[in-house]
Amino acid sequence: MSKPTIAFISQLPKKEQSAWLVSLAELLPDENIVLASDFTEDQKKHCRIAIIANPDPEVVLQFTQLVWCQSLWAGVDSLVNAFKFDQSVTFKISRLIDPRLAQTMSEAVLTWVLYLHRDMHKYLAQQKQVQWHQIDYQLPEERTIGVLGLGELGKACTARLKDNGFNVLGWSRNEKHLSGIQCFSGKQGLVDFARKTDILICLLPLTQDTQQLINHEFLHCLPKGACLINFARGAVIVDDDLLHCLDNGQLAYAVLDVFEQEPLSRHSLYWQHDKVTVLPHISAPTHVISASKVVASHIEKFRATGQLPPCIDFDLGY
Ligand code: NAP
Repeated sequence: MSKPTIAFISQLPKKEQSAWLVSLAELLPDENIVLASDFTEDQKKHCRIAIIANPDPEVVLQFTQLVWCQSLWAGVDSLVNAFKFDQSVTFKISRLIDPRLAQTMSEAVLTWVLYLHRDMHKYLAQQKQVQWHQIDYQLPEERTIGVLGLGELGKACTARLKDNGFNVLGWSRNEKHLSGIQCFSGKQGLVDFARKTDILICLLPLTQDTQQLINHEFLHCLPKGACLINFARGAVIVDDDLLHCLDNGQLAYAVLDVFEQEPLSRHSLYWQHDKVTVLPHISAPTHVISASKVVASHIEKFRATGQLPPCIDFDLGY
């Protein structure tokens, strides 16, 4: 067997690993991408590039000469937590930025915004009570959708919501100017943003600054009866505070795709809650072929120029 050139380090099921290896090998015929478990100890010391997907951090650290890890996922919170304080880590990590993923996420966001906008959650509740009652129709431009996080996914979602006629707001760390979107930043910006938001979408990375950001205080800045969609990370929300706000009517409904513990514990109060939809982390799955093309182009560029794609900032956490 020829020498491996790139390590594939993951804890994915075998079938999924094989799909990635086949797809990547087709696009990168000059590389020899090999599972970490098939590397000899000596080969591990010479490998400079790894493709990672939910890797065991201990296995990554066995590859002592790595300069770059390309993740197959968009979220990097677990990688930041695993490597941030390890002095021996000198490699950079790039995350997946794939327009296809942004499109998939914006499709999920639009689906649930329309569901809430057209009062489907209320009609479902009415059906359970055998009630026939027509709720007044509201125009999309009369509904304000606030998107937390204006990155690769958040920006695509604001554009898609705007195209569908909604009034759209966004909040990010740095000040932004996006056509047709009212943008906010900073602490006071968050309060101003929340006060106007009817349907809140969370697309923030999980970092030490965003952890538990959606708490009692923040939820009470929203207009009474607002709805929440969390497609980012569970730990951005304080679960007890959210449940309390749903129970006392401050919030009308929550669509949750992500949880601090996944799979969601069978004892979680969310499962049976009348005002909650639980989804099993499906809003934007990585598409193997599309993501492989993105990864392959980064590797080709690195081989040709030595240049890496944008990499995560360990201090910021994203
Ligand atoms: P991204 O491009 O890194 O964008 C992150 C956005 O959040 C940026 O606008 C950033 O502000 C903002 N932000 C970060 N920290 C902030 C803070 N402290 N205060 C205010 N704004 C802050 O990330 P992305 O690709 O859009 O992905 C977002 C998250 O979605 C991922 O981290 C991942 O957790 C989640 N995700 C979920 C799924 C799913 O299936 N449920 C799939 C993919 C991704 P600046 O623009 O100013 O830097």
